Amino acid sequence: MPELPEVRTVCRYLNKAVKNKKIKNIYINLPKIIKNIDHNKFKEIVKGKKILKIFNVGKWIVFDIDNDYKILVHLRLEGKFRNILKGQNPKHDHIIFNFEDKTNLYFNDSRQFGTFHLLKGDYLNQKPLSLLGKEAQNTDVNWLHQKLSKKRIPIKTSLLDQKILVGLGNIYVNEVLWIEKIEPETPSNQITIKQLKKILKTSYEIMEKSYKLGGSTIDSYVALNSKEGLFQNFLNVHTKKDLPCSRCKEKILKKWVGGRGTYYCFKCQK
Ligand SMILES: [Zn+2]
Repeated sequence: MPELPEVRTVCRYLNKAVKNKKIKNIYINLPKIIKNIDHNKFKEIVKGKKILKIFNVGKWIVFDIDNDYKILVHLRLEGKFRNILKGQNPKHDHIIFNFEDKTNLYFNDSRQFGTFHLLKGDYLNQKPLSLLGKEAQNTDVNWLHQKLSKKRIPIKTSLLDQKILVGLGNIYVNEVLWIEKIEPETPSNQITIKQLKKILKTSYEIMEKSYKLGGSTIDSYVALNSKEGLFQNFLNVHTKKDLPCSRCKEKILKKWVGGRGTYYCFKCQK
């Protein structure tokens, strides 16, 4: 699943590819992907609108279009955009934007978990965005400490909760906890404010670095068409099962925490 650096990278490429283009037509081959409005109504509203810019709010991709409308896209597991025809199975092209300049943008999703919403006006205070927490660099550490003080669930699970912190996914939580030498199953309420401060700082830094490298290409993430990121070359624990920890040489272990694959060093992370 793409995480924050990957989603920001996708937005960067989308701006290059379709910013300022006018949507002449839109084809919806899989209506269930449109979540909060009837797909015919969606089509009716979006047709003829211009894409003003594309940005992200957490892991949501926001297409800002005319008349104060926003199209929100979540890639979930396998959703991806491309603007050329080759390289993908067209069977999974569920949404196709056709622009006035005769170019197209395809939303392809073999798993069909990706979602589209259409919102008007104050989109940040409407579902689904109104339910989100803040990005690491905008999160107040005292608020976070207070929030976790009642939680006994593993710190890893809390950090993945998008209502608490937005954008931090499985890859980066594994990395952050390794860097900060925190055992992933430590109860959330046992993490000190000092540790939380470092978690926030490291989360921000690691995601910035990844963004600059175009994200991590693991599983099926691609930025646009088949452009890939490079941050996977800098991972310390994620996907490193049985390899030596780069800090202490102990074998990296894998276990499941809250249903998510968790890589850690039992010697460093106590
Ligand atoms: Zn270690």
